[in-house]
This record gives sequence, C-alpha cells and structure tokens, in this order.
Amino acid sequence: MNVLVINSGSSSIKYQLLDPDSARVVAAGVVQRIGEPVAEGSPSIEHQSEGRTFEHDGEVPDHATGLRLVFDLFAESGHDLAEAGLRAVGHRVVHGGEVFYEPTLVTDEVLEAISQLSALAPLHNPANVVGIESARELLPGVPQVAVFDTAFFHGLPAAAKTYAIDAKVAAAHGVRRYGFHGTSHQYVSGQVAEFLGREPAELNQIVLHLGNGASASAIRGGKAVDTTMGLTPLEGLVMGTRSGDLDPGIIFHLIRTADMDVNDVDALLNRQSGIKGLAGVNDFRELGRLIDTGDAAARLAFDVYIHRLRRYIGAYLVELGRVDAITFTAGVGENDARVRAAALAELERFGIRVDPARNTAKDRSARYISPDDAEVAVLVVPTNEELAIARAAARLVG
Ligand code: ADP
Repeated sequence: MNVLVINSGSSSIKYQLLDPDSARVVAAGVVQRIGEPVAEGSPSIEHQSEGRTFEHDGEVPDHATGLRLVFDLFAESGHDLAEAGLRAVGHRVVHGGEVFYEPTLVTDEVLEAISQLSALAPLHNPANVVGIESARELLPGVPQVAVFDTAFFHGLPAAAKTYAIDAKVAAAHGVRRYGFHGTSHQYVSGQVAEFLGREPAELNQIVLHLGNGASASAIRGGKAVDTTMGLTPLEGLVMGTRSGDLDPGIIFHLIRTADMDVNDVDALLNRQSGIKGLAGVNDFRELGRLIDTGDAAARLAFDVYIHRLRRYIGAYLVELGRVDAITFTAGVGENDARVRAAALAELERFGIRVDPARNTAKDRSARYISPDDAEVAVLVVPTNEELAIARAAARLVG
C-alpha cells in the first residue's frame, strides 16, 4: 500500500505517491509558481505517472486549489487517490521547534501547534499547514503524518545548540540552533552505514547536503552532534541564494545606512545572496559553465563557497576526533565533481583522499570516491527525503 508524500513550500508543492517498502514511485510531480502569473507555454503543474506526463496550464491561485488540481491529475492518470487505499499521507514540515521531534500523527491540536511555530519559520510553516489542511479535506479518513526537518537535530548537545546571547532573551523567544534537512542527514547517514556494512552506532560521519539549500552535519554513533543551520535555514554554508554565516552587524549596518527595512534585508539574505548574489546565477551547472569561460565573479563565488565548506569540514573533523566517512549528497553534492574535489583537496594528512576517476565517474548509485586504501571513506550517496518521509509515516501508522 502506498503513501502520498507532500512537500508544500511557499510557492510550490512537490509530491510523490510511492510504496515505502519497495521504494517504487507510482507518480510524482510539482505545482509551481502558486499565486504568481504563469508564462505562456510553461505549465504550472507537471505530473509524471508510469512514464507519462500530465500537465496543467494556467495560474494556480492558492495551495488548496493546487492540491485539488493534483488530485484531478492523479484520477486522470488512473490513480484516483480517494479509491487508492492510501496507507498515509506524509507531510514534510520544516520547523518542529522544541515541541516535535518524532513523526507525529496530525490532529487539530498538532496542526495548531505547527501553525504557532510559524514565528520561527514564517516562509515555511504556514505553507506546510495549508498543505496538511487541504490533504485532510480531500482525503478524510487517511492518517496524516507530519515529519519534521528539525527532528534529527533535536538532541544536539547544549554546547552546539546554544547561541551566546542573553539566556533569558533566548529562552523567552525560542532562540537556539534547531538545524534543518534533518530527514536527509538521517536518511543518508543510515544509507552510509548500510553501504559500509557497519552499524550506525560504530560510525563517526560528516554529511554534506549540498542542494540549493545546503547544510553539513557531524554525526557520532548515529546521533547528530552538530550542524550548520541554526534558528533558521539561513546560517552556515553558502547556498544557492542564501548567504549562510555572516557578521550579524551587517544587518544593522544595512538597516541604518542602505535604506533597507528588516524585510528587505531578509529578502536580500535569503533570496539574492549566496552563489546568486555573487555570480548572478544559482544553479551550479550554469556556475560551472561561467567558470569555464573565465568569468571572475563566478570563480569568486565558487571559491567563497568552497572556503566556507572547508571551514566546517575542518571544524567537524576536530569535533568528531575520528571520522569514518564523509558523504556528499543532494543536487550539487551528488552531481558536481568539481565541488567535491575542491572541498577535500590536500587533506591527505587527515586520511582524506579523493580518487579523480571515481569522482568524475557517471554513476548515480551510492559509491566510493576515495581510493580503496583510504583511511576515511569518501562517498556520494543520493538522498531521498520522500522515501524517508513515506517510511516514517508508514511506520507510525503501522
Ligand atoms: P533543493 O531540494 O534544495 O531545491 P536539490 O538538492 O534538488 O535542491 O539541488 C538543486 C541544485 O543542484 C541545483 O540548483 C543545481 O545547483 C544543482 N545541480 C543539479 N544537477 C546538477 C548537475 N548535474 N551538476 C551540478 N549541479 C547540479
């Protein structure tokens, strides 16, 4: 029996219908540009089912309409969800705050609590709530399960999760490091243990989730002990459009001198910074092409990205003391050999080596990119957050 996984974002909904046991994907798709005008010839919904593509053109005014149209496309493609006998719907929820750190069956109270966490994730949690509400309405009687992006980092040691600000202010406003991409870090570190034929409890790992959003984690014996994202997904690594770490004084400086208000700075740091802010593009395929043409801004963006990444790899090597595996995952991590090579260059003295032929091999499965005799296993492991959410939901509903 299948699980429907819904990832409802601020202006998009990604979804998959899949079998959590076999990992077989029955159908998948995305609703894009919700609430925005759509350009002619670019569909707002693309739905793939058994090798066929179904599309919807025209504006999708809101999430509820988007999900209803998706359900129509499911029916059109021969998988009427109302009759499919779904085991559960699994929802990706970005922020679980201090409250949620396990997959959780959605009730009215749970939904209200997720909604209340919106102050911590104003771009994400409201969209997640709308996705859950719509799915409950369209599929009454099917258990809805929330899976939280912060959950894997709930148990971070106090020293790693505490910001050095006034403790009373921090406590009153929930200011601590929560971490994000937890579903991916947990799934990938589990896959690494399986790949190496070892128990997660025996392994110290660094996982580098490098997608459009990017984060690194240090994992000791299966438990996360540090991560780069913080109160929000803005902290840490340089990302596609987010700055990652910066001097907080920059924010005050811009508000005082650049005629920007807090929302302008929020938009600047979340949407017009990172690789995009430096190079004008945020896709690493385009960045690579620009670097190859000798574009100096693209080169600098790449160097800044790698500099930050290496800083955290160094920090986590020291924190963990002994590292068994370093793993690259997500869109950039799985595909960009140049990033992987630069991230781990000249670390031989730490037992870290990347084999150039393995690194550039066209292979989509979990694999080594370190040589056979390397002390530290360097791996590329595809992430699969949908499968992890589907499995978590199926496990919870039994
Ligand atoms: P997210 O889930 O955060 O949106 P993904 O993990 O899907 O992101 O990663 C998307 C990013 O992966 C793209 O923006 C692009 O930079 C990068 N990417 C995808 N394919 C490739 C590729 N073949 N080579 C280099 N980078 C790639």
